Amino acid sequence: MKLLLLIIFIFHCYLKQSEVSGAQSYGGRFSGFHNEITLGLLTDTKNDDIRKVFRKAVDVANRDLSIPIRDYTDSVQYGNIYETSKKLCKMLRTGISGIFGPTARNTAKHVMNICDTKEIPFIDLRMEENPFSPRINMYPNPLQLARAIQAVIKAYNWPSFTILYESSEYLTIVNEITNLFDQDGPIITIRKYDLQLYGNYRSVLRRIRTSKDNSVVIIGSIETLPELLIQAQQIGIITDQYKYIIGNLDFHSINLEQIQFSEANITGFRIVSPENEEVKELIKTLGYDEGIEFRNVSCPITLDMALLYDGVKLFAKTSEDFQFQQEMIDCNSESHWKNGYTLLNLIGLKTMDGVTGKIIFENGIRNEFQLELIEMTTSGLVKIGTWSTDLDPSSELEFERYVPEAVQLETNDELSLVNKSFIVLTALSNPYGMLKSSTTKLVGNDRYEGFGVELIQRLAEKLGFNYTFQIHKDNQYGAYNVETNTSTGMIREIMEGRVDLAITDLTITSQREAGVDFTIPFMNLGIAILYKKPQKEPPKLFSFMDPFSKEVWMYLGLAYLGVSLSLFILARLSPMEWDNPYPCIEKPIELENQFSFSNSLWFSTGALLQEGSEIAPKAPSTRTVASIWWFFTLIMVSSYTANLAAFLTVESLSSPINDVNDLAENKGNVKYGTVANGATRTFFQVSDEPTYMKINEYLTNNPHLLLKNNVEAVEKVLNENYAFFMESTSIEYNIYRKCNLTQIGSLLDEKGYGIAMKKNSPYRDKLNHALLELQESGVISKMKNKWWKEVGTSGCSAKKEQSEAAELDMDNLGGVYFVLSIGSIIALFYGLVDWTVAVFRQSRKAHVPFKQEFKEEFKFVSQLNNFTKTVKPTTASSYSRNSSVTMQSTENDSTNNKTSANSNGKALPTRISNF
Ligand code: GLU
Repeated sequence: MKLLLLIIFIFHCYLKQSEVSGAQSYGGRFSGFHNEITLGLLTDTKNDDIRKVFRKAVDVANRDLSIPIRDYTDSVQYGNIYETSKKLCKMLRTGISGIFGPTARNTAKHVMNICDTKEIPFIDLRMEENPFSPRINMYPNPLQLARAIQAVIKAYNWPSFTILYESSEYLTIVNEITNLFDQDGPIITIRKYDLQLYGNYRSVLRRIRTSKDNSVVIIGSIETLPELLIQAQQIGIITDQYKYIIGNLDFHSINLEQIQFSEANITGFRIVSPENEEVKELIKTLGYDEGIEFRNVSCPITLDMALLYDGVKLFAKTSEDFQFQQEMIDCNSESHWKNGYTLLNLIGLKTMDGVTGKIIFENGIRNEFQLELIEMTTSGLVKIGTWSTDLDPSSELEFERYVPEAVQLETNDELSLVNKSFIVLTALSNPYGMLKSSTTKLVGNDRYEGFGVELIQRLAEKLGFNYTFQIHKDNQYGAYNVETNTSTGMIREIMEGRVDLAITDLTITSQREAGVDFTIPFMNLGIAILYKKPQKEPPKLFSFMDPFSKEVWMYLGLAYLGVSLSLFILARLSPMEWDNPYPCIEKPIELENQFSFSNSLWFSTGALLQEGSEIAPKAPSTRTVASIWWFFTLIMVSSYTANLAAFLTVESLSSPINDVNDLAENKGNVKYGTVANGATRTFFQVSDEPTYMKINEYLTNNPHLLLKNNVEAVEKVLNENYAFFMESTSIEYNIYRKCNLTQIGSLLDEKGYGIAMKKNSPYRDKLNHALLELQESGVISKMKNKWWKEVGTSGCSAKKEQSEAAELDMDNLGGVYFVLSIGSIIALFYGLVDWTVAVFRQSRKAHVPFKQEFKEEFKFVSQLNNFTKTVKPTTASSYSRNSSVTMQSTENDSTNNKTSANSNGKALPTRISNF
């Protein structure tokens, strides 16, 4: 009995335990696999934004998770099934708990099938016409979208309309719309637009124009929508007479710039609200700054990105209640993740608020959501109402009242530009008109960017006109010849009426003004020279000579000799400079003059080098010369020191040309040119200034130096000994990007760029007025700053000319060292000679052979620790050899006035050298 009770107790405990663990864990346990959660993304778009959003979503989700999610992204080629399955299997082998798939229909289906077999949660982000379990589809149910479209049609009260659909994929929506109307409903025409069918959409669009229908519902992919709308505009059905409903939830993410002012009534839907804080955060993640236009789209977050973001967050939320043990799945085996479906079911039961609104599933499908109704206005897309799946089909859709932020454009003015469509001609010239680089295919005006392109866009916003950019085929600015009445280039296109406006770096000239009209200048400039920056010279051995010119050095040398000679002569002339050599002898038979010629030189040298010489002039005349010399050397040495510091720290720069005259005189053999048929060339052709006439002659004789455009010129200037006459604004643009270039000299003239139009155009005043407003509000200078100093600069502007002190090295001071070495060698040589001569004289005086005397002296010199030298006896005659001379000049030089210690320790002169 006891045993039975014990068994019942143990069984009871076991049951309790199972209940507890069952409540905590849905997934059960798997052995031997990693304890982390990995989410995979197979992306087939080249755009990197989707990866950034995936990363961001994982980062945000990980903030609240105890076991963080790891993201694993791999890219596949669009529609490549083989590559997709290979990469998917690779992912599965590493252990994946959920997958977001590619966008191509065939590959997405393939991934879906593999995931179904392997029981890996596949979270579908695409519109699926026939959704079926056990997958989760984040895309709002397309049948509900059909309901929303029907509600808007009802609210607009359209008696008839045309549905334009792109492919069979969208037939579910088309069917649903038609089913939602009863027999008394509007007349519906259904047409297919398909690029593959007709090559373009024009034929189907023409049919709409010829039919009575002016209400159109477009149901198709977002990729083809911009081109469809542009072609519709060209056919003439994007006007205020036409109304459109766009059945695509990505309408907010396309560029409507080209049709923005068409006044057609275009309504769309969006599920992603740009006002949502998380959406704003995501926009920042993609690198857009708040307040800056998102490349002309209303909101850059596409539905794909928003659904991916919400999908990751939903997965993370579910994973909090699920005990994970990821399994590594092999595609080639029977294995599958046993609890994958459990996780998927749990995801299907979760609800949350995401960037796409409330997320709640019914059999894996999102049936409940809210859409914002948006309408195109001249200031972009504006929210006009909300539609919700809760809305009763019988009740009326209510529109919010809104005040569009659009500029109130005057349409009753006869000369108004509102709704006018202009063809704007531009030349590809940096940064006025440039091709936009993008990883996606761009169409229409979206292909171009630049200062001129933005200026036209801003004028269009102000004046309400539509425009289509055209690029001039050979980028020729053009000219007009009044005498022959012929024109070329862009000017000709305007004069012959093929285009309405022309904008680029098009200079207003009197010649051109005779054929076309220009607006007021939107930018002022002048001709200048573009050339390479002065080159640094390599350091020189004798750079210590640089502070003074050659002439100064030469005159310094002459002054030194002159002063020494003056001292010598003046000293000989002046009685005060004759001294008694032995003051104790009251009446000396000899007087000495210290200013021998060599002493004079020595005195000048001491002063010049700011040292002393122990020679002091006594006579006023010599003292005056000495004072003036001291003053002179003080100034010279100070100037030298100051200038030397500058020379040694700042590298010297040299350029063969410094202004237009240098070019005209062909200095440095620099070749030069201009744009072949531009205003600069004309400037030299018509000028009567001798220098410019000389330049014109050179240019006429060297037509090969005239270039097609500024881009070619920049390359030539950089690579050859070539200077280019370029307009100052373009020079400024180029020197911000090529740090080796600079502007040489000042501007040769003053002029401006304008927008050209047909002579006597009625729109000139309106354009001038708008340009003035843009100038006064500082918009144009901001634009200039943006296109010159911000877009694509390489930091040259930030760099100041290098003037920081460089270390002084041997390159700089080698010359001084060289001189010092040479001086030392000469001094040594001189010392040896002097010593040899002294030995020789001594041998003569002592009447001993030179060789013997030399040996003795050398032995004595070699005894490095012996500091006493016995004075050898000398004959009296050697002392009195010159005593017959009454007035004797004596060297006061310490080297010659050698002393030696006698036995009493007193220093006595042993020799007097006479000159
Ligand atoms: N802006 C000039 C023109 O309109 C072209 C460039 C140049 O001649 O330097 O012709």
